[in-house]
Order: sequence, then structure tokens, then C-alpha cells
Amino acid sequence: MPEYEAVIGLEVHAQLRTKTKIFCACSTAFGQEPNSNTCPVCTAMPGTLPVLNRLAVEYAAKMALAVDCTINRRSVFARKNYFYPDLPKAYQISQYEAPLAEHGRLRIQVDGHEKVIGITRIHMEEDAGKSIHSAAENKSFVDLNRCGTPLIEIVSEPDMRGADEAVAYLKALRSILVYLEICDGNMEEGSFRCDANVSVRPKGEQTLGTRTELKNLNSFRHVHKAIEYEIARHIDLLDDGERIVQETRLYDVDKGVTVSMRGKEEAHDYRYFPDPDLLPLTLEQTWLIKWSEELPELPQAREARFLRDYDLPEAAAQALTAEKDLAEYFETAVAAYPEPKKIANWMLSELLRELNLARISARACAMTATHLADLVRLIDSGRISGKIGKQIFAELFATGEAPEEFIKRKGLVQISDTSALEAVVDKVIAASPAEVEAYKGGKTKLLGFFVGQVMRESKGQANPGVVNDLLKAKLG
Ligand code: ADP
Ligand code: MG
Ligand code: ZN
Repeated sequence: MPEYEAVIGLEVHAQLRTKTKIFCACSTAFGQEPNSNTCPVCTAMPGTLPVLNRLAVEYAAKMALAVDCTINRRSVFARKNYFYPDLPKAYQISQYEAPLAEHGRLRIQVDGHEKVIGITRIHMEEDAGKSIHSAAENKSFVDLNRCGTPLIEIVSEPDMRGADEAVAYLKALRSILVYLEICDGNMEEGSFRCDANVSVRPKGEQTLGTRTELKNLNSFRHVHKAIEYEIARHIDLLDDGERIVQETRLYDVDKGVTVSMRGKEEAHDYRYFPDPDLLPLTLEQTWLIKWSEELPELPQAREARFLRDYDLPEAAAQALTAEKDLAEYFETAVAAYPEPKKIANWMLSELLRELNLARISARACAMTATHLADLVRLIDSGRISGKIGKQIFAELFATGEAPEEFIKRKGLVQISDTSALEAVVDKVIAASPAEVEAYKGGKTKLLGFFVGQVMRESKGQANPGVVNDLLKAKLG
């Protein structure tokens, strides 16, 4: 049996964060009453005309600039014709022959190695509505709220060689979109969606194998599992001497398998033609210059800066910069208390855990970056122990109370005063004669036991350093 190589190309649809739709003034808000965000334009009433949303163009162009695409100064909106109940015009306005941007690239990192993934094109298009099938009522419903929501489609070259690379690419793309503040990146709500094209070929072979296209991948985990499943399925078929059928397949989340959905349509099936209702989109050079000047520092540049300026371990720099909010939080905290490594540790352990539990982003959390900095400072200065810091973290996170006030109010300030601790140390020594004898007989490892007892007696408030010194002196 030959050894196979997997080939993956991804089509990503990102919903642009404009307030209104791409060709009308309807709201793009998610979760509204069905068919409430509609008008004659997005419900395709005869005689209505589309008017292009300027901000959607700006957002699309910014993404194109961020991934080093060549922007076409002139692009053309085209009609992609197909019939479906959630598509009232019976065509989707998209871009075909002359897309907004082409020839981009994105650097990814997988298992410590770097790789550049080519971006074939980025084009603008409108979203369709949503069909809702109710088994209970044995009826289907159509909600047109999403009709006309602005999207960009980002098409990659077939440059990925496995599920890990595909997920790394998606995460890097999503991170950039969120940094640019042009997409909320929410996979569950469908604002960041992906179709994965998968094929395999014998290692060393240059021509591409027949691909299948996977849909319904609404989390990174599903993308990964679906691609792995599909690669294995292709290899099994080829090893059995069978052919791969080019088709669209649906990932079944519950069973963890892909199932055939429909034969793969070809571009000519859609009868693309330039939309006569829309002028070609021409971009002024001055706009492009302005937009590229407005690009923020992007995640990979920020990661490099974090490595350089804060001397963080690579994994920490990457984790802290993947989400813009988290990176901003970190920088604010470090500005308040310049101990980047300690701040990073607290953020990546305690803070991230609480954020995940609460399912919120760093921006929305009650505990401010300055509070986190204050907490780390209180620990460093010996006012409270690290252990107490951990114990009170969840409460500080939930309430947003200033750490200083909190520890005063709860009487948690660490006891470093020798005379106050001496009584506790004496008590512990008196209560454990057997251990004292063993310690004096050479089992010095028992020091930890004594320290633990003192910490327990003092409800965690004793300064462990002072306790250590006291114990050593008293135990001889
Ligand atoms: P469509 O799927 O809409 O027909 P394209 O022909 O542009 O569009 O291809 C879409 C995606 O499929 C691209 O990301 C491309 O890299 C990828 N692709 C094309 N051929 C293969 C293949 N043989 N194996 C894996 N991916 C492929
Ligand atoms: Mg496709
Ligand atoms: Zn509308």
C-alpha cells in the first residue's frame, strides 16, 4: 500500500460586523424575531435595487490587506444563480471573475514549525436566510433575517497537509478578523464558518486527488475530527481499489462521521454573470492607503513584540496574543505593575480558567487588569501569600472588588511578624513530639510537615518564609 499525503484547502465565510446589511439598511443583529430584520430589498421585491454598504467594503479590504493580498482596484459583483427557499432572489450576489482581492498568504505555526499558507482570493458576498425544519410540527420555516448579511469568503490554496495545519490556519485567520474588529468570530452563531476540501494522494505525487467538500463544521474541534475522519475514509477507499466521488458531505456531529449530501456542483452550474444592478466596485488609491495605515498591530506582530519586550516563553506569548482582549488586558496589567512573567502566569492559569467558566472575554470581566496587577503586587510584597491569592481569585473575579480592600475587609493580610508567629510555631512543635524527635534524628524532610501545620493553624496567613526560619531555629 502506498503512503498517502492529505491535501486540504479551506473556504471560510466571515460575517462582517457592520450594523446594517450589505445592500440595504436592515439591521444585522443576531437572534431577532424571525423576518423582523427585512425590507423590500433583502426580501427581493420586484423593482428594488441594491446599494452597496461602504463600511463592508472597508472591512473586506482591511482583511485583504492584513493577509497580504493584492487588492483589485476594480472588482465586479456577480449573480450566482440557484434556487432555495432561503434565497428569495434565486441568486446570491457574490464576486466571481473579478474578486476584491487575490494572492495573499498567512503564516501558521504547527508543532514548532512554521509554514506559509497561500490565500487564493477574498471576495465579498451576501448571506442567505435560514430554513428551520421542525420535526415536531412536520413543517419547514424560512427566516430571512440573515439575507443580505455582509460576508467575505476567504479561499485558501490547497496548502495544508493535515487537520492540525487546517485548525492552525483557521485560528490564525479568526484571530486577525477579531483583531481588526471586523468580525466577532463566533463559530456557534455562524459568524465564522468554514468548508473543508479534503483529498489524499500518494506521497510524492504532484497532481491533486479527487476532493470532497465538508460542511457543517461549527467548531475547531469538529473541523479537526471531520478532516481526520475524511482523510481516513479516502485512504480506506483507495486501498480497496475504489474511486473517490467528488461530492459535498455533511459532518454528523453525534456519530462523528461524514455523510454524502449532494453531488458537487461546478461553477458553470451557477450561471454566473455580472449583476446589472450594481456598478463595478472601484477603489480609490487614497482609500487603500488610509485603510492600510489604520490596520492595528496584528496578532503575529504582537506575539513577536511580547517575546522581545517581555521576555515571555513562546507558548505564553502566543496564548496571550491570540485574543486581542487578553493581550490588551496583559499590557494594561504590566503597565500597572511591571512583572510580565508573573502577570502572564496569573492570567494564563487563574484568569483564563475563570473567563472560560464564565464564558466571557477579558474585556467584559469585572476584575480589571489593574486589580490583577494589584493582586500580584500584594503577593510579591508579602502582604498575602500566593496560596491566599489563589483562594480569593474567584471572588475577586466575580465581584471586581479591589484586592487591597478585599484582603483588609476579610482580615487576610499575611502574618510576617515573628512574635505573632512564634506562638503558633511553639504550639505546633509541642503537639508533634514524635515528628520533632524524628526531625532531630536526621529526617529534615519533615520541615515541610511543620510548615504545613503552621500554615493550617494560621489559616494560610502565615508568611511561609518567616515560618521556615522560625522552625529551623527552634528545631535546631
Ligand atoms: P468551489 O469549492 O466553490 O468549487 P474552488 O474550486 O475555488 O471552489 O475550490 C475551493 C477550495 O478547494 C479551495 O480552498 C482549494 O484550495 C480547495 N481544493 C481544490 N482542489 C482540491 C483538492 N484536490 N484537494 C483539496 N483541496 C482542494
Ligand atoms: Mg466550495
Ligand atoms: Zn433589508
